[in-house]
Amino acid sequence: MSTTTQYWITMFSTYGWVLLLLIMERIWTFQKQPLLRPGFFWDVIYTYQNIVLQIIFWTAAPVIVERILANWLTQTVFPIEGAFLQGALADRSIVLNLAVLFLMGESIFYVAHYLAHKIPFLWEFHRVHHSSLIVDSFSTSRFHIVDRILFTLPNILLMIYFKARPEAIVLYFFFRAFMDRYIHSNIPGPRWPHKFMLSSPTFHRWHHSTNPPILHQKNFGGNFIFMDVLFGTAYDPDPKEHPLPTRFGEADYSNNLIMQQVLPFYYLYKRWTQPKQA
Ligand SMILES: [Zn+2]
Ligand SMILES: [Zn+2]
Repeated sequence: MSTTTQYWITMFSTYGWVLLLLIMERIWTFQKQPLLRPGFFWDVIYTYQNIVLQIIFWTAAPVIVERILANWLTQTVFPIEGAFLQGALADRSIVLNLAVLFLMGESIFYVAHYLAHKIPFLWEFHRVHHSSLIVDSFSTSRFHIVDRILFTLPNILLMIYFKARPEAIVLYFFFRAFMDRYIHSNIPGPRWPHKFMLSSPTFHRWHHSTNPPILHQKNFGGNFIFMDVLFGTAYDPDPKEHPLPTRFGEADYSNNLIMQQVLPFYYLYKRWTQPKQA
């Protein structure tokens, strides 16, 4: 794959899906919900701030991933050449590279996500992502920076450690950029991709549901569902038999991006300073 093709795929991952999913949500609407909902403005800012971060750190890409990150990280974080499986993906096929990237990315996502829900300290940061009262493609990017680092850094470090091929990284993020926004979108996506272990808007909507008894305790997977199936956390009843969740987020949580970056620290401080109840 030429560098120009990689560049355009990356451009589409970064800008194209944002627009395309917004249009798709307007044409195929799942649940009746307004576009200009509370927090929409800030979530648009999040999306573009996220794009800036992506350009700087990972996707934009082959050039940055290969020349800056890889060089810098291999010299500073992984200085010993020839350690166990180091650089193992460098001369392997794109198919093998992609298989490893998907398997690794999804496993890391599931574990990080599970911990973010189970450990109170981490939950305060992940709570920001769950605060939106309405789940749509723009709520995808609402994340606290600490939460984002927890989810992505191990993945990026391992990609660099294994020296995944730049073409595979570009295709991996092309798929992820679509799936991340798609599973949050207000599109009535079909359920048959579950047979191929792919996630769907219904699947992730159940994860965001605040309807008891689900309450964020199911569907920790990202783009795939195999980890949830494996660990018994998958929940996706047939919508014909079970009505879809209707309640999401926290009404009292601020929609302001700056406040959302500060609030977890405030809540953690309150949690630690409050006397424990007997
Ligand atoms: Zn979550
Ligand atoms: Zn989500």
